[in-house]
Amino acid sequence: MVRNDDKCTHCGACVTICPTAALYKDPQTQEVYFDSDKCIACDLCVPACPPRAMEVKL
Ligand code: SF4
Ligand code: SF4
Repeated sequence: MVRNDDKCTHCGACVTICPTAALYKDPQTQEVYFDSDKCIACDLCVPACPPRAMEVKL
């Protein structure tokens, strides 16, 4: 998985859906970060992201 940082609006929709907390919100900046080491490529965040910032890279 990769995140297109140009598309991400930091809306937070993916944070609650990600089972491994690979997508998480920084409480201080309110920005959403993506930790690819935690990602299990379940793809749940792809349809959950309004601007489709999460992309599957094969
Ligand atoms: S759902 Fe998409 S736009 Fe919203 S914070 Fe997550 S990656 Fe960014
Ligand atoms: S593919 Fe799954 S584990 Fe990876 S960031 Fe998206 S929801 Fe989280």
